Amino acid sequence: MRDNHQIRGLHLAFIEWRIKLFIVARMALRFPRPNQLIKALKGIVAFKSRFTISKGLPKAVRSNGRTFISCNANGFPSKNFFRPVEIQALKALNQPPNHLEALAVVQIALTKKCPLNCEHCFEAEALNQKETLTLDDHKRILDKLRSAGVPMVHYAGGEPMTNVQDLIELLKYGDKNVDFSIFTSGFKMSEENAFLLKEAGLTGVYLSIDHYLPEKHNAFRRNDKVFQWALDAAANVRKADMVLTFTLCVTKEMCNREDLLAYMRFAAENKASFVMFLEPRAVGNYAGMEVELSHEEIAVLDAFFMEVNTKKEFQQLPLLVYPAFQYRSLGCAGAASMMIYVDTDGYIQACPYCRNKSTHILGSEYLETLSDLQAQGCSNPAFVNPLN
Ligand code: SF4
Repeated sequence: MRDNHQIRGLHLAFIEWRIKLFIVARMALRFPRPNQLIKALKGIVAFKSRFTISKGLPKAVRSNGRTFISCNANGFPSKNFFRPVEIQALKALNQPPNHLEALAVVQIALTKKCPLNCEHCFEAEALNQKETLTLDDHKRILDKLRSAGVPMVHYAGGEPMTNVQDLIELLKYGDKNVDFSIFTSGFKMSEENAFLLKEAGLTGVYLSIDHYLPEKHNAFRRNDKVFQWALDAAANVRKADMVLTFTLCVTKEMCNREDLLAYMRFAAENKASFVMFLEPRAVGNYAGMEVELSHEEIAVLDAFFMEVNTKKEFQQLPLLVYPAFQYRSLGCAGAASMMIYVDTDGYIQACPYCRNKSTHILGSEYLETLSDLQAQGCSNPAFVNPLN
């Protein structure tokens, strides 16, 4: 097994300085005029300050020869690691790229197939319906993203592991500079499949585990084997040296410091590099239900996020990633601000939860759609002020 470990302290400070030097050098080469360079660097500093909660990076992860400062960022060093900062520099210089080129990540629902029917599934209506996109369509989508230079692609579903051969073919077909990840329940993530996926070009796995107690997770996912699938998958993903992120849908029941801390310890025991908190939304199987967190519950999550990522006593725990924390104060990164969702039929959506557009990613008018999405911003009132 190759090295896959957390980086902190002086080692991380050294890497952070290297990253900063690389950024200055790249910008100086790209924008040699001093006034342009200063403007570009100011734009980058402003961007960074909006996304960081402490002066320096709290933790990072070394995986497969690269450093990952978040499960939602490209590894360093890599060609695409600097793409988000370059885009911010161009925006600061009033030379913004087009809306597809400006995206940091595109999440694609690869299939409608899934062996589960989880309590919170946002794709419940589409599950196990007839597929409308072919493997060739997915290759054409990758061609489009490649020509725009999109740096990260996340495959979701349905369950992307229901057709491992197609997934492997797409990973092999994809741009080698792109970091590909999948969202999975752990289904069919045998050791053999983990190594095949890694060889084909998979960087990371977002593994859905919604409780540290087997019976609770199995009840949530409505399958009595799924907890064991997930644990086996976690071990196999680590063996193949991919970036392992546990994703947790924080329900009202789970939203208390004791359970959240027990979950983080469980994630550490199973060697997750990152944990990502997702908030339940009243869509899909949850449509019409009172599942969204109250202000008080969100305050519990916000405080926990700060505490676990900044206090010394929690240094051994995985880095906690909580996108909604940033979205609430900075604006949603969806709605073509930094990401879009391509649904199971290939239509562009603001995000997996906000379905408000009906333009196909393979159509010719997609740029207008992205422009509209960005102009409208996020439709969730909790996430106002989209980033631009
Ligand atoms: S949440 Fe994911 S794993 Fe669960 S039913 Fe939906 S697509 Fe399948």
